[in-house]
Amino acid sequence: MITTFNTSEQCALDLDSKDSLAKFRKRFYIPQDTIYLDGNSLGLLSKEAEHSLLRVIDEWKELGILGWFKSDKSWFYFGEDLGALAAPLVGAEPTEVIATGTTTVNLHSLVSTFYNPKDDKRTKIIADELDFPTDIYALESQIKLRGLNPKDHLVLIPSEDGRTIDEERVIERMKDDVALILLPSALYRSGQLFDMELITKAANERRIPIGWDCSHSVGVVPHRFDEWGVDFAFWCSYKYLNSGPGGTGFLYLNKKHFEKEPGLAGWFGYEKDKQFDMSLDFRHAKSAGGWQISSSNILCSAPIEGSLNLTLEAGIDNIRRKSVKLTSYLIYLVDEVLSIEPYNFKIGTPRNPEKRSGHIAIEHDTEAQRIVDCLNIKYNVISDFRPPSVVRLAPIALYNTYHEIWLVVQYLKKIIDNNEYSEV
Ligand SMILES: *Cc1c(COP(=O)(O)O)cnc(C)c1O
Repeated sequence: MITTFNTSEQCALDLDSKDSLAKFRKRFYIPQDTIYLDGNSLGLLSKEAEHSLLRVIDEWKELGILGWFKSDKSWFYFGEDLGALAAPLVGAEPTEVIATGTTTVNLHSLVSTFYNPKDDKRTKIIADELDFPTDIYALESQIKLRGLNPKDHLVLIPSEDGRTIDEERVIERMKDDVALILLPSALYRSGQLFDMELITKAANERRIPIGWDCSHSVGVVPHRFDEWGVDFAFWCSYKYLNSGPGGTGFLYLNKKHFEKEPGLAGWFGYEKDKQFDMSLDFRHAKSAGGWQISSSNILCSAPIEGSLNLTLEAGIDNIRRKSVKLTSYLIYLVDEVLSIEPYNFKIGTPRNPEKRSGHIAIEHDTEAQRIVDCLNIKYNVISDFRPPSVVRLAPIALYNTYHEIWLVVQYLKKIIDNNEYSEV
């Protein structure tokens, strides 16, 4: 693939002209005169997502409470319907996925279900030291709730290079004292994508429950949870799924666990057809829906419908293929144009495309923060800084172009050539 690239502007234009997903860009609202490379933090609004949101607002306007049962897509089943729609993206059956809650809340709900340290000498949770902080905060609080000390019971697999986690070290640590493994599918800073199949298989062999936080991979990487034997997973909808700020999250529960008691019960997890009997005897739905807690968050779920339909129309395999090509092109240009003196940018993301998700970490040892600010202020490029030294760029298959990547690399060159970062 690398051999198909060169550093000319014409190469970028040619890549765009041959891009079969290029037609999706016009279905998004791209902020004016902006190169938006931050879709891994907040995806952009599509016309489809706007449309499904406005439809639900109309339903509320016209139906009031009757919307729960009488709207086109009854609100009462909205979480289930969206879960079924998302299931093919993660290789699950329709009843194994539900749109509900938010990422961290779903983490709490699933860990409350799967972390049972009192059962035997298995008391520890494995995570890793490059995790997104909310996962660590939540796991520590879960351990404390059981009367245990996180210092002793949360095992963070160390990173050898500060960027990546060695999968073998995770597997080696799966000893008899481990009660649960919770890992991110992709690291938020370097973009390393774990071999979920390999690690899940190792956990299954040792009978350790394993869950994945897939916030940084669903919508850009295909998943096969059922086939891999994943116990549970959860992810947000507002990054690669483009469903809006703070949008409703998703959770996956392998059907072999449907009989388990939900750790954080609530009335929306009740057996669907008996929920309004209002019995005080809690009986959860034998599906991922049993893990709902509160009333379905309809307005924050509505954009997901349009946005998921767009992702499904494009096809997750096509999205992954283009995403890999976009990130490979970016790596190629950084290597060719920006890795030498005086630029000194380094790639902080695994170079093997199978080992990375949808973004690239470009490291600059001393000026990363000011470079991100300068890109934004001077060139209207939206990226983000991740301490200590990462400029994070996410070219999104559905709405970014190769030419935008080419331009951003030229801007980075100018920023260093002319010391522009020192002006911000
Ligand atoms: C974005 C992200 C979250 C966000 O959590 P919220 O509860 O939705 O705010 C959690 N975990 C990971 C790995 C993320 O990338």
